[in-house]
Amino acid sequence: MSPAFPLVRTTSPVPEAERAAILAAPEFGRHFTDHMAQALWTPEAGWHDRSVGPLKPFSLHPGTAALHYAQEVFEGLKAYRHADGSVWLFRPERNARRFARSAARMGLPPLPEEDFLASVEALVRADEPWVPVTAGEESLYLRPFMFAAETFLGVRPAERVAYSVIACPTRPYFSAGTGGVALWVSTTYTRAGRGGTGATKCGGNYGASLAAQAEALQHGCDQVLYLDSTDEEGCIEESGAMNLFLVTAAGELVTPALGTILEGVTRDTALTLAPDFGLAPVERPVTFKEFRAGLADGTITEVFAAGTAAVLTPVLGIKGEGYALTVGDGTPGRLTTALRERMLDLQYGRAEDTHGWLRRVL
Ligand SMILES: *Cc1c(COP(=O)(O)O)cnc(C)c1O
Repeated sequence: MSPAFPLVRTTSPVPEAERAAILAAPEFGRHFTDHMAQALWTPEAGWHDRSVGPLKPFSLHPGTAALHYAQEVFEGLKAYRHADGSVWLFRPERNARRFARSAARMGLPPLPEEDFLASVEALVRADEPWVPVTAGEESLYLRPFMFAAETFLGVRPAERVAYSVIACPTRPYFSAGTGGVALWVSTTYTRAGRGGTGATKCGGNYGASLAAQAEALQHGCDQVLYLDSTDEEGCIEESGAMNLFLVTAAGELVTPALGTILEGVTRDTALTLAPDFGLAPVERPVTFKEFRAGLADGTITEVFAAGTAAVLTPVLGIKGEGYALTVGDGTPGRLTTALRERMLDLQYGRAEDTHGWLRRVL
């Protein structure tokens, strides 16, 4: 039997009219649902106090360890409403597994995968009215996270750890209408090194990315394309919150090999679906020189970024110190668009789930 996260329903939900207004134009990460899931861990009791209750602020001592040493990890996944009203998760077991791996890397107690799934499902059930009814790409974004909740300034793993799941209705970061993004190739910053936390979904990676993101915006780009070195001799990695893919004229779908990048669920989905579109999936190191030359001579025909929040986002150009390159003809690529549509069709139940990726909640 899966562990229970018993529900204590809020007595002051967001009024229906206000919720309807939020759902009519959901903005990523701005409006939160009525409830949250929670659990606590201590060395003596293990994971305990599982519940779903009213969304409320944490009360934290200023000496709470997470605020000082960033012992924190998180996940991101979505609940999709199908045309018949049912609500589904997409490959949540992968998020559960990755969350446990991230926790282990950060000295946090791994949450059993069944607890992860039970908490996410219990929250979706409690906040069912918040799952958008959609003909487009709206969904309920779910954010499980875990942090060092012990009041202690010493550097050692915390002996009190809080787990929580919150949710917000959302639409994709970049909708199909916005076309795509331009990436800035930073030679000032890297995001990860071997043996570091590049493959861990932890808040610290994101704090460290903000200066690079500011650099990208200053250069008129939307996101950063990270290399694994601060010169252009290295390999391409990812885009900070999205994995990168190249479509080649030879019919390959190439993505950087795992190691210092995050193992994205969307990344694995794209690789698995590639053969349906006549593309051979390839995971290998890609040098920046090869990438730049391929864009210049047209052997790289399409580039896209992949992540839960962004789905697949076409990359239309890259810029770096002293150069700018257009991908293909500067519009979203045919295969990128087709792969994106297929992924959405699967998530929204419009295509047959032959891989068993959907998990019904309601
Ligand atoms: C979450 C994340 C991704 C995308 O992973 P998905 O499982 O596809 O959402 C890519 N890179 C980083 C750094 C991430 O944190």
